[in-house]
Amino acid sequence: MAVPSYEAPTHQDTAYQTALEQFDRAAYYVDAPADYLEILKYPARELTANFPVRRDDGTIEMFTGYRVHHNITLGPTKGGIRYAADVTLDEVRALAMWMTWKCALVQLPFGGAKGGVVVDPKTLSLAENERLTRRYTAEMVKMFSEHADIPAPDMGTNAQTMAWIMDTYSMNVGHSVPAIVTGKPLNLGGSEGRTEATGRGVIIAMEEALKRIDRYDPTNTKVVIQGFGNVGSHAALIASELGYNVVAVSDISGGVYNPNGLDIKKLFDFCFHGGQLKDYKDSSLDHVTNRELLTLPCDVLAPSALQSQVTPEVAPYVKANLIVEGANGPTTPDADDILNDRNILVVPDILANAGGVIVSYFEWVQGLQSYFWDLDEINRRLARIMTKSYDNVQVIAEENKITLRTAAQVAAISRVVKALMTRGIYP
Ligand code: NAD
Repeated sequence: MAVPSYEAPTHQDTAYQTALEQFDRAAYYVDAPADYLEILKYPARELTANFPVRRDDGTIEMFTGYRVHHNITLGPTKGGIRYAADVTLDEVRALAMWMTWKCALVQLPFGGAKGGVVVDPKTLSLAENERLTRRYTAEMVKMFSEHADIPAPDMGTNAQTMAWIMDTYSMNVGHSVPAIVTGKPLNLGGSEGRTEATGRGVIIAMEEALKRIDRYDPTNTKVVIQGFGNVGSHAALIASELGYNVVAVSDISGGVYNPNGLDIKKLFDFCFHGGQLKDYKDSSLDHVTNRELLTLPCDVLAPSALQSQVTPEVAPYVKANLIVEGANGPTTPDADDILNDRNILVVPDILANAGGVIVSYFEWVQGLQSYFWDLDEINRRLARIMTKSYDNVQVIAEENKITLRTAAQVAAISRVVKALMTRGIYP
């Protein structure tokens, strides 16, 4: 059987092109008819809304928001909402598709979705953010439902955003619907452990990988993390609590680096109170750019900010032996090839950052049952699913001699396409 070859793209890939190329690479190994596989390349439905929001000074400004449902074969769609100045429909499509594979890979009864609003949340006051969120929710009422499409936080959104979405949706239908979102505050039916779940899952995936490549030695392992938001900061905190030496972290303003290790708790408190890392003063550390951070000397690199960071320009200079993808889509396909040639192991996003959607699923189930579990129970169940999913991916990778990324997508696509064939094509 000939292995497909790929021309190295000469252009900058968009996120959706990356998602499609990854799909093609994996679909080659999936035993299913081509016309069924073709269906999975398309988003099932998309909604774009242009809507006005009143600023605090009384002026009115137009904003654009998106929601994409990629696939509903396995159940209601699940996926976060991103607020970012440069978010595009193309990016939301890619993120929705990755959500389908992520949910399928870790065997959740969900399809994939994603949402986005074109706005830099830092330019909004709290009241403007609330009005924007409520109006976006009202525009998306046709897409959201606790039985059809359940949003969650992503870049630029948080538990407060989810509380406003839950309240707006509830006001529209006339009764409280806590299960409409996950990642909500605990006092509204949020789950213990959800805030740090993605970061915790990233570290579980990192430890699984280190054990398998015989490099499990926390105190002698240097970790670099790009992104110090929900995913990156909790991954950094949990790694340092476990004894790993986190030597560099970054946010959009740049990174801080100390080859002897950083005080992550201090950095976390500084950023939690609104600080940007470029302003963090400590004579023992150096300030680095985000680009420099990706190629610092370390054992593990966890890109946990945004997509298309490890590109063919960066991949030849990466010094880590292991990349664990906290972000969605941080590595482009041509960079993947370079890393593979250099024997750098990549634990792919749909496996490495699945902790968030796994605990979101726990939150949804707890909410529907109105019966809540404690943190130990949540973390135990999370670790079990992460480890089992990693085992499954490893077996497929070894059997087919393919990367963990392609193996993870083979597992996910196979599950979705088999369910699609069982359901049949309507009408
Ligand atoms: P966040 O908004 O909490 O944090 C994002 C971090 O990235 C911040 O530190 C920000 O300063 C930094 N950043 C933004 N733009 C940057 C740039 N151009 N260069 C460098 N750094 C930049 O977002 P998050 O929830 O931590 O999400 C981060 C990534 O993880 C995204 O790719 C998201 O899709 C993915 N993810 C998030 C979750 C979740 O539960 N929140 C789950 C799975 C995957």
